Amino acid sequence: TPVLQQHFIRQIVREDVTSGKHAQIRTRFPPEPNGYLHLGHAKSICLNYGLAVEFGGICNLRFDDTNPSKEDLEFVEAIQRDVNWLGFEWAELRHASDYFEVFYRSALKLIRLGLAYVDDLSADEVREYRGTLTEPGRNSPYRERSVEENLDLFRRMRAGEFADGSKTLRAKIDMASGNINLRDPALYRVRKVHHQNTGDAWPIYPMYDFAHSLSDALEGITHSLCTLEFEDHRPLYDWCVDKVDLAHDPELWEPLLAAGLPTVPSKPRQIEFSRGNLNYTVMSKRKLITLVSENLVDGWDDPRMPTLAGIRRRGFTPASIRLFWERIGVSKQNSTIDMSVLEGAVRDDLDGTAPRRLAVIDPLKLVITNLDEAHAESLTFPNHPKDESFGTRSVPFSRELWIERDDFAEVPPKGFHRLKPEGEVRLRGVGIVRCDEVVKNADGDVVELRCTLDLASRTGMPGADRKVKGTIHWVSARDAVPAVIRLYDRLFDLADPDDDSDGKTYKDHINPHSRHIAHGYVEPAAAGAAREDRVQFERLGYFVADMHDHTHAAPVFNRVVTLRDSWAK
Ligand code: ATP
Ligand code: MG
Ligand code: MG
Repeated sequence: TPVLQQHFIRQIVREDVTSGKHAQIRTRFPPEPNGYLHLGHAKSICLNYGLAVEFGGICNLRFDDTNPSKEDLEFVEAIQRDVNWLGFEWAELRHASDYFEVFYRSALKLIRLGLAYVDDLSADEVREYRGTLTEPGRNSPYRERSVEENLDLFRRMRAGEFADGSKTLRAKIDMASGNINLRDPALYRVRKVHHQNTGDAWPIYPMYDFAHSLSDALEGITHSLCTLEFEDHRPLYDWCVDKVDLAHDPELWEPLLAAGLPTVPSKPRQIEFSRGNLNYTVMSKRKLITLVSENLVDGWDDPRMPTLAGIRRRGFTPASIRLFWERIGVSKQNSTIDMSVLEGAVRDDLDGTAPRRLAVIDPLKLVITNLDEAHAESLTFPNHPKDESFGTRSVPFSRELWIERDDFAEVPPKGFHRLKPEGEVRLRGVGIVRCDEVVKNADGDVVELRCTLDLASRTGMPGADRKVKGTIHWVSARDAVPAVIRLYDRLFDLADPDDDSDGKTYKDHINPHSRHIAHGYVEPAAAGAAREDRVQFERLGYFVADMHDHTHAAPVFNRVVTLRDSWAK
């Protein structure tokens, strides 16, 4: 369990709970179903669900589906799967579209109060009238329409009488406001588009600020956590909640009760925090969609993707993602986190939870000439060096082994402590071998090492503690199972792939070495892993049995992360 950071949002919530301001806190995670969730979303999920769990509150999952044309059922399903995978359960699954009738009634109320009007200006004209940071905006010529005329026009917008873009409903706030969001922002637009939930029932759709603030209020949200770019929207958020005043107007939300959606309107407090950003990756949905649609990666769950589906397939644990975001904490300071922090979190998690296994990724044959052809032994290995509760397993040992090709050097560099001609090395759990002969093929490649095992150095023998510099791992050639081992690295070769100042885009910075498919061997116990089981292949790193492709007969492992941070070298 990670050490909890006393960040400002946790403090606000604690104070609100201690003071009795809220009997129970309520949060929500409100994704737009227009892509897969990524690691940045996980920050928001961990924060919203995490605080609800910590303070005995509840958290809803709400699809912000007010933008119909871009949404897709595949995304809706993937989002639910990924939130569950991270380890969180929502109290209720809601859709902003559940509230369309309430939004409509709320808009009529604002019109009646003289706080909203139907505008005929085109999008370009609205932009022109809006003014700039230094210049106030101008009132629309349609701003002083009567309540009756506005009611009539808005009802006709709803009835589908007007073409897309020909009319908007705007809040009547202040065209001279220093905050551009308050210069009569649009509340509704005409869009004759089919919607995944409401079909063709609505030719008008609410704008984000209006729909989002009222959705929060309808669900009784106490703390509405969002990213920093919404800070300037907060006055509008509060304006919508205050002016519509759902709590004192049950008629507005009566359709929800009829539909069996419990409603306890609140006055939610919006609190902003900085987005989570990581280097060596991109996290905008638009860019992730491009990577997938242009086949620059193998789909949304490509193990190199920063999507939760990808990071899951890569073998990261939900606990490691939660640990990572808890370590990073929450603030209003924008920053980019080094990928090594994420990798450190998964190493820390897997070190304690992944059983150890033997595998050889780039095999070279080693023959022990002083053992019989038929020699067969079963050695007992601990499954975890620091935790006896993992138990032990049998590892078959025989005369012919596979070792890692780079554990042998014919011309060893300085400081090389593994195997070399005439040299000695310890075979993990076996004893010391001496390399007597190097066998080469016609091309001069090393194809086999012929060695003698010092029988007196075997475990339990008097010479077992004889010193030799290196220890290498191995698998028995007769018993090992051929395996596909996919070695992954960072998807981009540039710390900030979003930086296009050199005229190149993120697409030009895909790391050509980000995936290498190796054909190696694993010991039988590793082949027996279930899909998504994670192991440490000794000396090599942490690996996961691929969730789709792994079978016992034809194992497929993905490298989660190396044992040490090797990026720098
Ligand atoms: P994108 O810009 O990639 O489309 P988004 O913010 O529009 O992302 P949403 O589906 O609207 O995506 O996001 C759902 C929730 O997740 C929002 O509350 C949003 O603030 C939060 N979120 C998205 N990206 C991040 C991030 N990088 N860090 C923290 N929270 C994030
Ligand atoms: Mg978006
Ligand atoms: Mg969004």
